[in-house]
Amino acid sequence: MTATNLGFPRIGLRRELKTALESFWAGKIGEADLRATADALRLRHWQLQRDAGIGCVPVNDFSLYDHVLDTACTVGAIPDGYGWRKGQPVSLDTYFTLARGERGTAEPCGCGHAQAAKGAPALEMTKWFDTNYHYLVPILRPGQDFTPTGFPAVEAYEAATRAGFTARPVLLGPVSFLMLSKMAEGDPLDLLPGLLPAYAETLKRLAKAGARWVQIDEPCLVLDLPEKARAAFANAYDSLARVAAPLSVMLTTYFGGLRDNLDLALSLPVQGLHLDLVRAPEQLAPALRKAPPRMALSLGLVNGRNIWRTDLRAAFALLREAASERRAEALLVAPSCSLLHSPIDLESETALDPELRGWMAFAKQKLAEVAVLARGLREGGKAIEAELQESDAIQAARRASPKLNDPAVAARLAAGTPEDARRASPFPTRRTAQRDRLNLPAFPTTTIGSFPQTAEVRAARAARKRGETTQEEYEAYLRAEIAESIRWQEEAGLDMLVHGEFERNDMVEHFAEFLEGYAFTRNGWVQSYGSRCVKPPVIFGDVSRPGPMTVRWSAYAQSLTSRPMKGMLTGPVTMMQWAFVRDDVPAAKVRRQLAYVLRDEVADLEAAGLAAVQIDEPAIREGLPLRADDRAGYLADAVECFRITASAVRDATQIHTHMCYSEFNDIIGSIADMDADVISIETARSRMELLEAFAVFDYPNEIGPGVWDIHSPRVPEADEMRGLLQVAAQRIPAERLWVNPDCGLKTRGWAEVRPAIGNMVNAARGLRAQAAE
Ligand code: GLN
Ligand code: ZN
Repeated sequence: MTATNLGFPRIGLRRELKTALESFWAGKIGEADLRATADALRLRHWQLQRDAGIGCVPVNDFSLYDHVLDTACTVGAIPDGYGWRKGQPVSLDTYFTLARGERGTAEPCGCGHAQAAKGAPALEMTKWFDTNYHYLVPILRPGQDFTPTGFPAVEAYEAATRAGFTARPVLLGPVSFLMLSKMAEGDPLDLLPGLLPAYAETLKRLAKAGARWVQIDEPCLVLDLPEKARAAFANAYDSLARVAAPLSVMLTTYFGGLRDNLDLALSLPVQGLHLDLVRAPEQLAPALRKAPPRMALSLGLVNGRNIWRTDLRAAFALLREAASERRAEALLVAPSCSLLHSPIDLESETALDPELRGWMAFAKQKLAEVAVLARGLREGGKAIEAELQESDAIQAARRASPKLNDPAVAARLAAGTPEDARRASPFPTRRTAQRDRLNLPAFPTTTIGSFPQTAEVRAARAARKRGETTQEEYEAYLRAEIAESIRWQEEAGLDMLVHGEFERNDMVEHFAEFLEGYAFTRNGWVQSYGSRCVKPPVIFGDVSRPGPMTVRWSAYAQSLTSRPMKGMLTGPVTMMQWAFVRDDVPAAKVRRQLAYVLRDEVADLEAAGLAAVQIDEPAIREGLPLRADDRAGYLADAVECFRITASAVRDATQIHTHMCYSEFNDIIGSIADMDADVISIETARSRMELLEAFAVFDYPNEIGPGVWDIHSPRVPEADEMRGLLQVAAQRIPAERLWVNPDCGLKTRGWAEVRPAIGNMVNAARGLRAQAAE
C-alpha cells in the first residue's frame, strides 16, 4: 500500500455534517439521526478514498466537531462543570457544551472566536498551526488524571474493517496534544507520564483488533522546540515503542520542515516518518541520508492545503531521488498534510471557468495524484508517462496563460518606491491636521463597521442573487438601510459613523468580487471550526481593480451626515490570508499587488470626501510563520503592504485599522510600525489586559480598546464600560483613547446593539464630564 492519505474533510460535499449538527443543536433531530449522518459520511469518504486509489484509508480522522476535543474527551481530560463523571463515557451533551458553551450560546464573529454567554463556557478556540482551522484548547490541571473514556480509534478501525476497508487509524500524538493544551499553573508537558498509559492502552487494543499501522500526528515537531519538549518526544516514543508491537507507528509531521528537529524525529523508535515535502522539499535529502534503513518514509508530495494540481513531473523527481537511495517498499506517497484543509471534489464546480478548473485539484483529485505517483514508484516512470505528460501539458498551459499575467500590474509594482509606504508627515503632524479637520470630542465614539446582518438584510441579498429582484430594487433597499443606520447613529450620539456594511456577505469575498485575478467556487468549503465552514476565494492571477469597490456606498453615507464617516476596507494581508493563493509566484508578490489595489481604493475614498478610512487586518497575526527565524521577514513585508495601502492620503485623512485577537506581545513593534492613526482592538473580554502590551511598548498613536464583548448577547451597562475605559486610561494617555466595541456588530441583533451603543456613548460622555471637572 504505497498510496496513503493522512485525513479527509469531514463536513461533506454538501456540508451534510453542518446541517445535521445544526439540526441536532436546534433539537430538530436526535442523537441517533446525527450519528447516522456522521457514519454515512464517514463510510462514503472511505469509499471515495479507495476509489481514488488509496488502498489503506485513514480512520479516526472523522470528528463531530474537532479532533483535539475528541482527544481530550478520549483521555478523560474534561474540566469540572460539564456534567461528566469519571469512569463514565462522555455524552454528546458534555461534548457539545465543551465545544459551544452551555445551551450553545457561543456566538461566532467574523474572526472566528466564540464564547458562551451563560453557564459553562466553551473551551477557548485557537488556530490549528498556520491554517484557518480552529481547534478547541484542552484545559488540564496539575496532577490531571488521564483515564480513557472509550476507544474511538479502535471502534473506527473495526467499523472500517467490517465495511471491508484496509485502514490506518490516526491519533493526535501525546506530545502535541499536551503542547496544544493549557494549564492555569505549570507546564502540561509535566503530565506526560500520566498520559502515556492511556495511549498505550489504545495502541494495545488497536494491535489486538488487527491494525498493522497507526498514524500518530506530531505536528509540533515542525515548531521551535524547547529542550523539555525534545525530551518529552524521546520519552513518549521510547515508552510507546515498548507496548506498540506488533503495531507499526507512522510518526506524522506537517506544515513545515523538521529542520533542527530532524535528528530528534529520526532517533525515535518508530517504524515510519511522514515529511511535508510541499512546504519543505529540502528536507528530503538529509532525511534520506540520515534515516535508519528500516524506517519507512512517507513523502508528502501533494499539497494538502491548496487547490492547485500537483506538478507530477517535479513530484516524481523527488520520489525518484528517494527511490535511488531506499528500497521502494520503505517509501510511501501521501498528501503533505491531512486533506481537512482542502475542499472535497472539483467535479462539482461546474460553473468554474474550464481553463481555471483544469489547473485545480480538490481532495478527491489530490488522492488520484497520490495514487499515480505511487504507481510510478512501484512500476517505474514508464507506467505513468501518460499522466506525467498530461501534467506537463497542464503546467505549461497554465504558465503560458494570458490569465495569469497583467503587464499593467507588473509595471505598477515595478514603479513602486519606498516612498509609497510612507505617509507624508509623522504621526504628531498628522494628528494636528486630523484634529482640525474632524473636530471630535475627547473619548470619540465609533463602531468597527458592520451593523446587524438581519434575516431581512440577508434575504434581500439572496433575492438579488437569485435574480428575484432587480439591481435597482436591491440598491434602493441598501440606500434605505444605510440612511436608517446613519439616522440612528446620529441619534445615538456616535461621533464617527460607518455605513453599516449591509451590502457585504463577508469581508474578503465581497472585495474579491470587484477584482480581476480572482475566481470563486460554488462548493469549495473548508471547515473553519465545528459546523462553521468558509469558502475562500481563489487568487489565480495578477490582481487589479477595474474600478472603485466601496466608494459609492461610503460617499452616499457621508452625503447624509455632517459627522465624519469612516470608509471601510479589508487590508492586503487579510485579503491574502483568507484566500486560496496562486502557487506560481511568491506569496509576497500577491500581497503587494493587493496592497496597491487597496491603496487606489483608499485614495478614491479620500477624493470622494471621506475624512477617515478603516483598513481591517484581523489576519496579520495568523500569517505569522511557525518558526521564529521566519517571522521578522514576514512581519516586515506585511507591515510594508499595509503601509502601501494606507499611505496615499493627506495628513488630514485619518487611517484606522482594526484587529481582533488577543496576542500582541510578540508583534507589538510591528503593529506600531503599521503607523495607523487609530487602531481598534478586542479588549473587553480580557478586561483590558491586552492593553498591557500597548502600554509597556508605549504605543505612540491612538487606540480604541473594545469596551463591549460583542461575542456575547449580554448588554453591558454604561458604568461597566466607563470602568473599563478608566482602566484603559491608566495605561494609555486619555487624549489618545477612542471608545468602541470589540469588533463589528454583524452577528448581533438590533435589540442588543441599540442599548449597548447607547450605554457606550453615555460611558464616553461620563468620562468627558469627569475630565471637565
Ligand atoms: N469591519 C468589519 C466588521 O465590522 C471587521 C470585522 C473583523 O475584523 N473581523 O464586520
Ligand atoms: Zn474584529
